[in-house]
Amino acid sequence: MIPYGRQEITQADIDAVVGVLKSDFLTQGPMVPRFERGVAEHVGAKHALAVNSATSALHIACLALGLGAGDTLWTTPITFVASANCALYCGAKVDFVDIDPKTYNLCPQALARKLELAELDGTLPKIVVAVHLCGQPCDMATIRALSQRYGFKVIEDASHAIGGKYRGEFIGNGRYSDITVFSFHPVKIITTAEGGMVLTNDADLANRMSLLRSHGITREAEQMTHAPDGPWYYQQIDLGFNYRMTELQAALGVSQMERLDSYVASRHAIAQRYDQLLATLPVTTPWQHPDSYSGLHLYVIRLQLEKTNRSHRQIFESLRESGIAVNLHYIPVHAQPFYQELGFKQGDYPQAEQYYREAISLPMYPTLGDTQQDQVVAALHGALAP
Ligand SMILES: *Cc1c(COP(=O)(O)O)cnc(C)c1O
Repeated sequence: MIPYGRQEITQADIDAVVGVLKSDFLTQGPMVPRFERGVAEHVGAKHALAVNSATSALHIACLALGLGAGDTLWTTPITFVASANCALYCGAKVDFVDIDPKTYNLCPQALARKLELAELDGTLPKIVVAVHLCGQPCDMATIRALSQRYGFKVIEDASHAIGGKYRGEFIGNGRYSDITVFSFHPVKIITTAEGGMVLTNDADLANRMSLLRSHGITREAEQMTHAPDGPWYYQQIDLGFNYRMTELQAALGVSQMERLDSYVASRHAIAQRYDQLLATLPVTTPWQHPDSYSGLHLYVIRLQLEKTNRSHRQIFESLRESGIAVNLHYIPVHAQPFYQELGFKQGDYPQAEQYYREAISLPMYPTLGDTQQDQVVAALHGALAP
């Protein structure tokens, strides 16, 4: 089987993790801050906090921005469920903005229209989560301008996008958002097994998220309600969680970061080769906005179903039978039974639903060789043949 995504673990990665196992600290040691500094410096953010998943990262990002009961968070329906669930964790509501038919990201024009209406009936969102699908950044300049006009906060869910750039600058530098989130799940661009990170340039937000990551507990005298009782003293000043990353994970992250830029470059070479090899087939290859240097976490094709007598499902199954473990990113979140229970209906987001009927994620990872890629392309030729 050729998977749709997979991690690369080198001897240097293994040595880094073993080094931690033999050291004094398995958690709360020097590696987590080192990983945080490394990522923050690489992407150009002031503060970075490593956590145990991007899902936790989204949760504490929403809490730090004050999301709660009576508030609404907007995001795209074409994302992993975590981008929306984070609002529900906070007792807030979720709503969706349909996707752009070319980039498959949240559509800035649809966002502008929905905001205009929401202003009239008093349902403006508190937060918009901009998901950089496949690693391609959203239209952040427009989203930032709208956030200033309507007063909402912006979280970039950059789970797919570490190492990518928007207008020549690394995603995560916070120029157009309040908080950025990365994921280090093994299929993502670099991995810490499970893991995530929040980045911000705002010291107050960083401080709040740092408390939320670890039980709401502080050991800093200046944050306490009164002078410490003694050197053992700590105070719980908020209701937080245990969302900490371990030292083993952070050591893997530090080691993987050394290959981030070469990973993204390899992904671009693979994408270019797919673009050429698929040019004659009835499929739409990923369109890249000129402002974007995608992280290329995923390579999603859309089937031009009017040009073949095979169905989406037949083509998908045929690829799986040929040993290509293709996938579909994503089932629209509003179509999930849990969200249907909340009142969302089929037909609510036509562009997202059309995308879902045509999309297939082809294998995309830095160690995918030409021979394997040729196998994928041959299988796709076979699957599309009448
Ligand atoms: C993977 C992913 C997440 C969740 O990441 P975890 O680290 O697995 O919690 C959130 N949002 C998007 C868009 C993702 O792809």
